[in-house]
Amino acid sequence: MSNCITIIGLGAMGTALANALIEAGNVTTVWNRTQARADTLVARGARRAETVQEAIDVSDVIVLCLTDYTAAEATLADAAPLLAGKTVVNLTDGRPDEVRATAGRLGGYGALYLDGGIMATPPMIGSSHAFILYSGSADAFEGAKEQLAAFGQSHYLGEDPVLAAVNDLALLSAMYGLFGGYLHATALAGSVGVTAIQFLAFVEPWLAAMMTALPDLAERIDSGDHARDVMSNLAMQSVAITNIVAASRSQGIDPAFMDPIERLAQKRLAGGFGADEISGIIEGMRAK
Ligand code: NDP
Repeated sequence: MSNCITIIGLGAMGTALANALIEAGNVTTVWNRTQARADTLVARGARRAETVQEAIDVSDVIVLCLTDYTAAEATLADAAPLLAGKTVVNLTDGRPDEVRATAGRLGGYGALYLDGGIMATPPMIGSSHAFILYSGSADAFEGAKEQLAAFGQSHYLGEDPVLAAVNDLALLSAMYGLFGGYLHATALAGSVGVTAIQFLAFVEPWLAAMMTALPDLAERIDSGDHARDVMSNLAMQSVAITNIVAASRSQGIDPAFMDPIERLAQKRLAGGFGADEISGIIEGMRAK
């Protein structure tokens, strides 16, 4: 495969991806709806495509990085038939149903479809901290992996195109849980005059220590055995969770972030699992 590659979508992330490709020595063609966003990249050596059709014509690998799948579909609408025989790497954040529909539609035009989830912010692109999840056509990944390595570490998850998107959303949900928990905690501490910077001295090492519990929780989740060797049973933890919700209210802090975990813990307790580890809450999440 040649080192010609196209990027469609030059927002914050698309621009970072294009920069990484240029830096790695790829012949990089760029297209963006708002054309002026390509100027800096063109000054750095990128080729400007005047139309989406031209952007597709000149490269075997087409990377999409747009706001959402609606934007991606709208951008490709008239040009999709030109994708026959090309590799499409869609790094647009999407839902599994959207991924399946787009993979099916572009596959129908003869494109090799690879979906991707970017686990990085734009400044991280090209560094060892960035990793990208891919799924879909194995041939597409094999053919493009050297070029894709410019973005960060690549992890190919398998042929099912939704694998990357679901793992991406799962990782983001862990991140938002962390951020939401941190914000709630900082608001609660702030209700007694503790500044965010002061609180950081406790919350950072506390979260780092709690991260070490994840391997044990993972084993329990995979085995379904939440009852063995319990150190911090759910009945005990539920008292703390209920106290957090009540204390938040009395301190004038909206407990909205903590409400769901209290509800899930109470549901598990009502099922008679108070002596189990907190990992058992996942069983209630799975049951619809
Ligand atoms: P931006 O908002 O910076 O850029 C959005 C891009 O989408 C622009 O190129 C914009 O074009 C284009 N676009 C939006 N709607 C349309 C449309 N209807 N037709 C054509 N083009 C359209 O977003 P990012 O670059 O930050 O994000 C892009 C993708 O990368 C998203 O899916 C995001 O989830 C993902 N991502 C972003 C991360 C980040 O930290 N930024 C982290 C991980 C993933 P125009 O310039 O003309 O408006």
